[in-house]
Amino acid sequence: MILKPFQMSAKLKYYFALNNRATFTNKQNTDYYTQLYGYNGEKNFYQRIKKFDQIVLLHDLTLTSKYKGQAQYDYIIIHSGRVVHIDVKNFKGTYRQVDDNFVSSYKKIKNPMGQLSVAHDILENTLSEMAHTVQSKLLFINENFCFRGNTDIDQWVFLSELDQYLEQFKALNHLYDIDLEIGRYLLSKHDDSENQYPPIKVPFEKVMAGMKCPKCLNYISQEKQKIDFNCKCGYQCKNEALIKHNIDELMILFEGPVTIQQVYTWCQTVSLSTIKRVLWKYYKKIGQNRGSKYYFK
Ligand SMILES: [Zn+2]
Repeated sequence: MILKPFQMSAKLKYYFALNNRATFTNKQNTDYYTQLYGYNGEKNFYQRIKKFDQIVLLHDLTLTSKYKGQAQYDYIIIHSGRVVHIDVKNFKGTYRQVDDNFVSSYKKIKNPMGQLSVAHDILENTLSEMAHTVQSKLLFINENFCFRGNTDIDQWVFLSELDQYLEQFKALNHLYDIDLEIGRYLLSKHDDSENQYPPIKVPFEKVMAGMKCPKCLNYISQEKQKIDFNCKCGYQCKNEALIKHNIDELMILFEGPVTIQQVYTWCQTVSLSTIKRVLWKYYKKIGQNRGSKYYFK
């Protein structure tokens, strides 16, 4: 059972919405690509694990321990009383270890084992009153990741070993109810305060309005009254879905409820009646009459 499904982080949603609407600084660019790489790696893993029906699965959990601090968990798999934390790393290229860093010809990354160990301790600590075994694994999911050095480390799983590693979670699970209990307990301990890992933001006045394609993120010139949207990139959707996507981007970048007039100015080529229809259908209305605003349900 999937207790907490895979979804894009609020941070990456912000960067997608901002993409092409403002010029990214170097720092924003680095942060954006780090997030995007991480997201693609986690998505890749989700495609493989989501159909396993003998496990309890949670994605993107944050736990806090009074003495040990906070840790974020890409995936937690619970099977037969065993709690397994999978930290997905989408590193690409050939790395070797220098001091406490992974170094490639163009990148230096802090050895993730330190972070894994802290996360492991916090997870054990959180579950200290329940019957369990905790394991933590670093999964190097990129097919172009290569490590020159000792790779015989119990906590490491490479893409070439993944299918074999996952076999164990297909086995019949006699402790499923207990696993579900552990999963629900962990979910109750999840710290969902949204601002833990904020994006590097741009003031809203500096963000460019207009309609973007959800796939290629390029601006589009949409004629009024069309039913379907066909982008040059090949992406197709209903015009209503396109408008909703762009209203979502406005709300993400504005960081709060918006008025009908704001949406009308933002979407530029869409009629007021269409905007009202989409707002009424998909969003929550806050306030009355002229002062009313709309936000995510
Ligand atoms: Zn497109």
